Amino acid sequence: MKRNRSESLFEQAQLLMPGGVNSPVRAFKNVDGKPVFFKSAKGPILIDEDENQYIDFIGSWGPMILGHSNPIILDAIKAQLELGTSYGAPTSLESTLASIIKSQVPSMEKLRMVNSGTEATMSCIRLARGHTGKNKIIKFTGCYHGHVDSLLVKAGSGVSTFGLPDSPGIPKELAALTYSCPYNDIEAVSRVANKIGDDLAAIIVEPVAGNMGFIPGESKFLSALKTLCNQHKSMLIFDEVMSGFRVGLGGAQSIYQIEPDLTAMGKVIGGGLPVGAFGGKQSVMDQLAPLGPIYQAGTLSGNPLAMSAGIALLDALIKINPFDELEIASSEIMVHTKNLMNDKGIPFSTSSIGGMFGFFFSENLPQNFDDVVKSDDAMFKKFFTASLNQGIYFAPSKYEAGFISATHDQSILDQTKSKIEKIVKEL
Ligand SMILES: *Cc1c(COP(=O)(O)O)cnc(C)c1O
Repeated sequence: MKRNRSESLFEQAQLLMPGGVNSPVRAFKNVDGKPVFFKSAKGPILIDEDENQYIDFIGSWGPMILGHSNPIILDAIKAQLELGTSYGAPTSLESTLASIIKSQVPSMEKLRMVNSGTEATMSCIRLARGHTGKNKIIKFTGCYHGHVDSLLVKAGSGVSTFGLPDSPGIPKELAALTYSCPYNDIEAVSRVANKIGDDLAAIIVEPVAGNMGFIPGESKFLSALKTLCNQHKSMLIFDEVMSGFRVGLGGAQSIYQIEPDLTAMGKVIGGGLPVGAFGGKQSVMDQLAPLGPIYQAGTLSGNPLAMSAGIALLDALIKINPFDELEIASSEIMVHTKNLMNDKGIPFSTSSIGGMFGFFFSENLPQNFDDVVKSDDAMFKKFFTASLNQGIYFAPSKYEAGFISATHDQSILDQTKSKIEKIVKEL
């Protein structure tokens, strides 16, 4: 497979943007590769600048759950396009999208639209601090919540040590307010919460983690977080930017039957346009300006094009409710892959929920970030590179999840399986 145009476009992009990209994972550094530049996409297929085709298992990191260039979404965007692209003033579309989200995720009694997942989690943190009058935050190592200063922190070795910023530019005084604990570890988080509870504003978690590979939270772990937050009068924030409308219509919170105080959303709810949202109890949300003193705003928030795309996608998603089929489809591919790997003596583990899945080159399914670090890096890179060259587009890092769409029909699944047979044979 030749990718000459992608290569020369990457050269040019590197002169204009740091690393040639506008978001770091796209640069393929984790897999020692060069990024593919795309020019179009339809259904489950991506087409690159050299006319190569790929079966897509990223789906723009979630939003393409009903396939690329879905006519229902394109028509909605076109219809709004004729009416104007932004007014900087209220529209009925914002209430429509908000009421659709609330109908599926009732813990979001009131919500605010923003433009990205980062804005959503950042606003949740500010609201939690403003509402509780407390400052400290607990997060979990390997959970990603966008590039918010307070959340770009992981633990040192001890769970009770002060957090160290992962990035220069974040004041250590701010990072010191963030504590990081191992995911799925009730004892560790209880110890920290009991120690800092008086100043604990919030615990933020990906209830289904998709940023250290795919690791579902354990039910008893997530329930324990709810209990700890109740005990300490802290807010439980579910970051469902990735899992919202991806693992099921009601997100992870409906699967686990746990109601967080605040929820952050993004990705799917924008139908492929830039959108985020956050919401929770009315009494808490009403503390935001203009009703309350906690400030939060956005010039293009609730943008009519983005709202139209989100409404069209969520309406269709609710009608189709494809989540059981999506889970069966990704399992079919992944179990097939696992059998092929195991026949060759290569350790491989996999799991799926709704339209999200993951795989690891490890004997057992990882439960936390440290387990993922231990999974076989070299084998992941080999498998990723071979898959790309066979026309299968998996996420370019073992720390990312997989995504499938309702347009991955049986013929696409069969093609994927036979490509994977070739790939595994040559590993
Ligand atoms: C993608 C993601 C974010 C950040 O969203 P952006 O739109 O990239 O700012 C936050 N939290 C989770 C769980 C995510 O997957």
